[in-house]
Amino acid sequence: METINHDRLKRLFLELVQIDSLSRRERDCALRLKRELEAAGARCQFDRAGEKVNGNTGNLIAHVDGTLSNVPPLLLCSHMDTVVPGEGVKPVLEGDIIRSDGTTVLGGDDKSGCAIICEVLHQLREKRIPHGPIDVVFTICEEVGLLGAKFLNLDLVRAREGLVYDSDAPGYLFVRAPGAQVLTFKVRGLEAHAGMYPERGISAIKLAAEAVAAMRLGRIDEETTANLGLIEGGRAINVVPNEVVIRGEARSRDAAKLKTQVEHMIDCFKQAVARAEVTVEGKSYKAELDYTAKDEYAAMNVPDDAPIVRKVVKAAERCGRVVKPEAMGGECDANILNQRGLVVANLGTGMREIHTVREWLDVNDMIGTAEVTLELVKIQAGA
Ligand SMILES: [Zn+2]
Repeated sequence: METINHDRLKRLFLELVQIDSLSRRERDCALRLKRELEAAGARCQFDRAGEKVNGNTGNLIAHVDGTLSNVPPLLLCSHMDTVVPGEGVKPVLEGDIIRSDGTTVLGGDDKSGCAIICEVLHQLREKRIPHGPIDVVFTICEEVGLLGAKFLNLDLVRAREGLVYDSDAPGYLFVRAPGAQVLTFKVRGLEAHAGMYPERGISAIKLAAEAVAAMRLGRIDEETTANLGLIEGGRAINVVPNEVVIRGEARSRDAAKLKTQVEHMIDCFKQAVARAEVTVEGKSYKAELDYTAKDEYAAMNVPDDAPIVRKVVKAAERCGRVVKPEAMGGECDANILNQRGLVVANLGTGMREIHTVREWLDVNDMIGTAEVTLELVKIQAGA
């Protein structure tokens, strides 16, 4: 097992977290990473994803040529953007534990992944470890809908299997993650004076309430959840409301269950609206429903016996570690990459309490993940 350069990894990580890189503003971070990748012998280019998302840079894509031929290329991927509050990060050190100062996130999500990948490339070069081709992808806009991965120019990526480094628990290899649909329901009733002619109105709020009350929400089963998170409607307390809009989502790791849940939610609204009808001065009025259900991202479902999974588990064993394929509740670039035909699992880096101002990380966890990755590169090369 190779010895990782602890100080270099820690130094790069500390430098990266102090470069602001909110979503769509990753350029400074990308330029710093480009310099690091080039120092490790990689050729860098940017794709045009930035133009499509109104950002200030595209995805950073780097190629490292193999020293061996006939080895399938390996993808190593992490994202450069961070969530708010994420500007002006001042890391606080207690030995190898790195925290934010409590006013921002740390940005270990996902600069830990970026730093680990750079260190792996340094190791390969310095120690002349025989390896196949490696593609590095540092994406933009992961935190705002996986946009960098969605618009990634796959013509620039040779690898068809690899790893995303974007989860907190070291020792976990996430292979399953939910797909999601975003739902919008617009219920239209009929406006009327609430005090004088309530019988001439159809309350959109009441219909929506009936639909929601009949709906299965929250945890549906072990791999499926649903939520209605936004509601707006009505104009005044003395007017029977003629419109209400409700927005929500459903997630499942199983595509069929996701479809069933979405249909159930739509059906609840349809049934509530179908019952509502009034006749005003001989003319009949019916409530109406408009809805949309859009795929937010597809589920990720890499089989436990996929070659990339087996190779990572074996690499961990060689390092005296245990890495287990698991299911996660959130989403990451791997959802999109798998949807786009690659086979990509998500390996933990040590980032903890992410998306909070209490975010922290232990450098030794990053070292562990870098060690496993180096072994993976060797196994990929047949060693
Ligand atoms: Zn992340």
